[in-house]
Amino acid sequence: MFNILKQVSDYAKGSFEAAKYIGQGLSVTFDHMQRRPITVQYPYEKLIPSERFRGRIHFEFDKCISCEVCVRVCPINLPVVDWTFNKETKKKELKHYSIDFGVCIFCGNCVEYCPTNCLSMTEEYELAAYDRHELNYDNVALGRLPTKVTQDPMVTPLRELGYLPKGVISPHDLPPESNRSGKRPEEILQEKNS
Ligand code: SF4
Ligand code: SF4
Repeated sequence: MFNILKQVSDYAKGSFEAAKYIGQGLSVTFDHMQRRPITVQYPYEKLIPSERFRGRIHFEFDKCISCEVCVRVCPINLPVVDWTFNKETKKKELKHYSIDFGVCIFCGNCVEYCPTNCLSMTEEYELAAYDRHELNYDNVALGRLPTKVTQDPMVTPLRELGYLPKGVISPHDLPPESNRSGKRPEEILQEKNS
């Protein structure tokens, strides 16, 4: 008799423990249902890069004066500036310009120091290639206008997910004037400085 009672008690205790653990597991699941999404359905959806995003470099051949400042300020002397000296005009003539994005660290020094502003950083970040040599962009490839997430009809552009209005879970079709929850980094800085 005593044994049976002990077995029933152990069984009830075990069932209670199992129910407790299932409850704990489900509470985590339900908690996640309330959270904001942190992924996008790439490549059908893409986040819009920030204004200062340092993506693929754009180069304007006609503006370049072959001064090679970009080479000197580059931490790895990466840009290749191929020029000849024109004795008649007594000026350098650019023949070829290239940057190998397989090596570039996108620091932006070349863009910053170029005296004629012929280099600029774009928001293009999809540079994957099967052959690493394809990442060595010549002046034609560098001169191609960048693709933009907002101009691609096949892509749904999304604004950043961290500042969605309170209670909004999906960032799709969010009106631009909607209030954001939380403060943006520049607002926090402004408060600190004031
Ligand atoms: S972004 Fe930086 S690493 Fe790349 S070419 Fe310019 S200076 Fe060199
Ligand atoms: S710094 Fe600018 S102008 Fe000078 S060589 Fe480089 S890209 Fe051309």
